[in-house]
Amino acid sequence: MVADKHTSEEKHEEKHDVLKATQIVIHRALEKLGYPEEVYELLKEPIRMLTVKIPVRMDDGTVKIFTGYRAQHNDAVGPTKGGIRFHPNVTEREVKALSIWMSLKCGIVDLPYGGGKGGIVCDPRNMSFRELERLSRGYVRAISQIVGPTKDIPAPDVFTNSQIMAWMMDEYSRIDEFNSPGFITGKPLVLGGSHGRETATAKGVTICIREAAKKRGIDLKGARVVVQGFGNAGSFLAKFMHDAGAKVIGISDAYGALYDPNGLDIDYLLDRRDSFGTVTKLFKNTITNKELLELDCDILVPAAIENQITEENAHNIKASIVVEAANGPTTLEATEILTQRGILIVPDVLASAGGVTVSYFEWVQNNQGYYWSEEEVEEKLEKVMVKAFNNVYETAQTRRVDMRLAAYMVGVRKMAEACRFRGWI
Ligand code: GLU
Repeated sequence: MVADKHTSEEKHEEKHDVLKATQIVIHRALEKLGYPEEVYELLKEPIRMLTVKIPVRMDDGTVKIFTGYRAQHNDAVGPTKGGIRFHPNVTEREVKALSIWMSLKCGIVDLPYGGGKGGIVCDPRNMSFRELERLSRGYVRAISQIVGPTKDIPAPDVFTNSQIMAWMMDEYSRIDEFNSPGFITGKPLVLGGSHGRETATAKGVTICIREAAKKRGIDLKGARVVVQGFGNAGSFLAKFMHDAGAKVIGISDAYGALYDPNGLDIDYLLDRRDSFGTVTKLFKNTITNKELLELDCDILVPAAIENQITEENAHNIKASIVVEAANGPTTLEATEILTQRGILIVPDVLASAGGVTVSYFEWVQNNQGYYWSEEEVEEKLEKVMVKAFNNVYETAQTRRVDMRLAAYMVGVRKMAEACRFRGWI
């Protein structure tokens, strides 16, 4: 029985291999843009991938060995950039795919970076504060040779936050023998963080929702919104939608989902969530994440993890707009089904690019040692996101491709051009 279960899980993994899916779309995008095959050969995998073992002294005195990764997809445009996730399901292929998505995001919002990504296989929900500190510092020591403010700049991702960024910055500053705030972004304000970084991903998603709703003639006031995931992106997004007058009728975390057709009390839920975004455990009347995705609504925002909308449930999605705040929540088969059904998809590499945009602002502020107000950051983010949305939307219209392929076409172009000018291809 156990063996059978394992095999079917492996099959599911293989079928929903995020790296393979990304490579397929990169290939299509380069083909559409008229690039030769060798460009694909260069861009289909990261140029550099480091796997490290991190020994950590646990609070009970034992030593546990953790596995970590850092992938650098392409550095033709500039240093690589992207977050670090702490999650039990982190794999090498996932980190590689995530680094490619970062390259695409940076291309779409036109930042002077290539993509990078890191991950550690661990469950921070079961670790103490000090164990997490030792793990964060150990990871930085293990990858220190390939990262740095002009090489590769990490940031937060799933289950990592500003405290973890602070420990990592401190560890790197000791190794570098300088105060190096530009080594990492998503830091606390007092350590050179930027105003607006914490809410940046959700702000970017909000701007995409507003623009997409305009295209579909949907009034955000009273629109029914469902948000899957209550972490950094999902929780702030629910709040912004609520503040904009939309009715947030469903939210979820890793353990279940909440539904109220009259709109949930978002402020109350925000107040009760823990630092990992868990809140549904406090309620008796919950629904499943599967049921949540299929709720009757206008706007659906997957803001959790990969492969949530697949060929199995894509036919049952009732939203008219799907805005991907998470990385990779919709499979390629599902993208095709949703597009055929006339549902407007705002793909992850566009919708979630607000985070890295404000990370870039943070890095610029660190480099110049001069800090901006929250209004300045928001004004700049607004301009970047609106331009990126329209660029992708118009590419989809004029080239007659779906929104995901359009986003990949916009995202890959600058990188391919930079590789060509450098004489790599
Ligand atoms: N982890 C975030 C992402 O997936 C942010 C990356 C960054 O700020 O560099 O876009």
